[in-house]
Amino acid sequence: MMDLRAGGNELLIRLGFFIGTLAIMFFWELIAPRRPLITSKVKRWLSNLGLVLVDSIVVHLVFPTAVVGVALIAQQRGWGFLNQFELPYLLKIIFCILIFDLVIYLQHVLFHVVPLFWRLHMVHHTDLDIDATTGVRFHPIEIILSMGIKIMAAFLIGPPPIAVLIFEVLLNGTSIFNHGNVRYSQNIDSILRLLVVTPEMHRVHHSTIRWESNCNLGFNFPWWDRIFGTYRPQPAQGHLGMTIGLDQYKEPKKLTLPWLLVLPFIGKLGKYPMTRSPGVE
Ligand SMILES: [Zn+2]
Ligand SMILES: [Zn+2]
Repeated sequence: MMDLRAGGNELLIRLGFFIGTLAIMFFWELIAPRRPLITSKVKRWLSNLGLVLVDSIVVHLVFPTAVVGVALIAQQRGWGFLNQFELPYLLKIIFCILIFDLVIYLQHVLFHVVPLFWRLHMVHHTDLDIDATTGVRFHPIEIILSMGIKIMAAFLIGPPPIAVLIFEVLLNGTSIFNHGNVRYSQNIDSILRLLVVTPEMHRVHHSTIRWESNCNLGFNFPWWDRIFGTYRPQPAQGHLGMTIGLDQYKEPKKLTLPWLLVLPFIGKLGKYPMTRSPGVE
């Protein structure tokens, strides 16, 4: 199969937005932090950014092309729902971004429901502080599964390739943004969270309290949580009083990159999967 990534500047565009968003959030967190960090920032950044590096290498080894490449193939061969009829281009793009976001929301729900998938997703939730780099803290197998789901979705939907590129950049950017440890006006937040998942909204999802971590599962748009009844506006103990992480993983010195990579295979599942009775270990 032809490597379609090489045909465009997809990688450069995505890398540029990734570094740009991370840099903006880094300075924002430095100037106006929301919560005092309880663990070493350097060690956490090494783990989180180390995971991004491992994820990128593994994804490039496993998949011959990115989701944009799949969208190009579907377009050339007339595969997928949207390639069956004519629609205004802008409408197709908006439709695709919404559908892909719904797919990612449902995927996130799945990772909290199925104990086997939760084993992978636990890595994201083991961060004892939450900041912009938490937004890229994912186990490589979770990233592979997510890529597989997005590729299947692209074959079925037949999206314009540009819609996929916009979505991928958006998802990466909003994930970094909504994990930010940043302070800003509550009035702005109440307006902003009508349109996009804000840091104040997603932070609730990282609470050690089970019913809070099973809420606010959206990444880009906040509407799915409201539609499917998984929306929780604020943490019960407040943003400064709440505890971040998982009850079964409290030792910062253990949360190193090698340990995070083997965690899904050896770690304790805990009480968190939605299908488990609370209190079951
Ligand atoms: Zn989660
Ligand atoms: Zn998160």
